[in-house]
Amino acid sequence: MGSLSGKNAVVTGSTSGIGLAYARAFAGAGANVVINGFGAPEDIEKERTKIESDFGVKAVYSPADMTKPAEIAEMIALGEKSFGSVDILVNNAGIQFVSPIEEFPIEKWDQIIAINLSSAFHAIRAAIPGMKKKGWGRIINTASAHSLVASPFKSAYVSAKHGIAGLTKTVALEVATSKITCNCISPGYVWTPLVEKQIPDTMKARNLTRDQVINDVLLHAQPTKEFVTSEQVAALALFLCGDDAAQITGTNLSIDGGWTAE
Ligand code: NAD
Repeated sequence: MGSLSGKNAVVTGSTSGIGLAYARAFAGAGANVVINGFGAPEDIEKERTKIESDFGVKAVYSPADMTKPAEIAEMIALGEKSFGSVDILVNNAGIQFVSPIEEFPIEKWDQIIAINLSSAFHAIRAAIPGMKKKGWGRIINTASAHSLVASPFKSAYVSAKHGIAGLTKTVALEVATSKITCNCISPGYVWTPLVEKQIPDTMKARNLTRDQVINDVLLHAQPTKEFVTSEQVAALALFLCGDDAAQITGTNLSIDGGWTAE
């Protein structure tokens, strides 16, 4: 019996990177999971069945687009219909775009605010009634070191991540007496497709080579000079789901190799 046996989790943006690591960590602890995100259907189906066969839990896939409030509500309803409840919600889907603000495409601003911030509002709004009914819940938002500090050329991302830190505190206070906790995790740089994809634009925006971006921009921010791993982030989320974390709520937990200590 895993520590999360009998619990059911929804993890947004879990077809890749940190989200997939959360889903696999929860499943490894015995939870059923709803995975979500984009990708080739055959790759998603492979990850879904792998979760079921590796861990002996149920995994279902929600194709909900995090820019669409109605689809987000359907994703929560799918979890409740498939498993009976959604006990753990992780708002993790996110995208990045790197550009000076005066050239920042307006549609990219709107898309980042929708996916990285508003989707969490919609999912939390839909999941809380069920958690209150069950008298237990865990809400975890993937924020970022960029919820605490800024970097140039990431205006939408930094704004959304500061926003998610505020949303986390607000929700934590609203559900404080309902045995539901709400926290955010703020990783530094984790080597995932999201980081890899921003390297070309950062090279352009800062006039640097690929190696210079990795060593002088990304790892420059992290005193340990090492990337965080998705598995380390997932292990922290797993701890937040346990009874030992019942009094941890409204916090913003850094896992950033010392970045925001500077
Ligand atoms: P990733 O690109 O590997 O994964 C992002 C996930 O979000 C994918 O599953 C993708 O399909 C999904 N997604 C994107 N747009 C979506 C949409 N409209 N609807 C539904 N799903 C959508 O990136 P990652 O690095 O694993 O990022 C996950 C989270 O971690 C993001 O919120 C990101 O901001 C945050 N984060 C990442 C880092 C890092 O260094 N990688 C650092 C701090 C915070």
